[in-house]
Amino acid sequence: MTLLELTGVTASYGPVQVLEGVSLSVPEGGSVGILGANGAGKTTTLRAISGSVRTGGSIRFDGRDIRGLRPDQVAALGVAHVPEGRGTLGQLSVRENLMVGSYLRKDRKAIAGDIDYCLDLFPQLQDRVGSRAAALSGGEQQMLAVGRAFMAKPKLLLLDEASLGLAPSTAKTVYQAIRRLRLESGIAMLVVEQNANLAFSLVDTATVLETGRNVLTGTSAELKGMDEIRRAYLGG
Ligand code: ATP
Repeated sequence: MTLLELTGVTASYGPVQVLEGVSLSVPEGGSVGILGANGAGKTTTLRAISGSVRTGGSIRFDGRDIRGLRPDQVAALGVAHVPEGRGTLGQLSVRENLMVGSYLRKDRKAIAGDIDYCLDLFPQLQDRVGSRAAALSGGEQQMLAVGRAFMAKPKLLLLDEASLGLAPSTAKTVYQAIRRLRLESGIAMLVVEQNANLAFSLVDTATVLETGRNVLTGTSAELKGMDEIRRAYLGG
């Protein structure tokens, strides 16, 4: 079953059109990557889905048309967005950030269990639950951002450049945890990632954007084997 389907999605910032017709689909429980150079429109595609940029075309999620809905309405339907730059609340503690993620839920017991799960997934956060998010390292903030999104119990996670600014070993740790989260939770994922090796470690299929259009779509194995992908994203 298809969970998310974009067909011919367009988007503009003022007079400048940056998406010229993006199409992709994410199956229930599936994991799909968006690759492409800087400025190709990857972040804007995620923003189009979560309702923070005006769009044309069609965006269907979980059987309904969500194009034009506000970000809070899209979130309430089960889409959690981990934006580029993480978006954790610096003045709040780690635990409070996780609680904020669960604000639409009422099941107190399950929420407590899910906080424990986050701390098991990201053991680096265990000693920091009372620390302000602003005091965390970049890697810990990224872990917290993913944990906060998980706390909403979404059907779909939008993940934007989770490796940005992190040391390679930290980025790998973060992706390993996200992979585990995917396997254990069944949450579908749409993943923007500059580092194609990390992307391919998490996604089943990916689409490549160029100036706001899909130019190539395939399975991770197919794309990894293509010379143009190797040259552009895998370092030769
Ligand atoms: P990056 O990896 O650099 O974030 P991207 O593929 O995610 O690249 P987008 O961030 O979606 O690309 O940007 C697509 C185009 O839209 C770029 O040319 C960018 O300069 C432009 N753009 C992005 N945000 C805005 C904005 N708020 N106002 C005007 N133009 C914008």
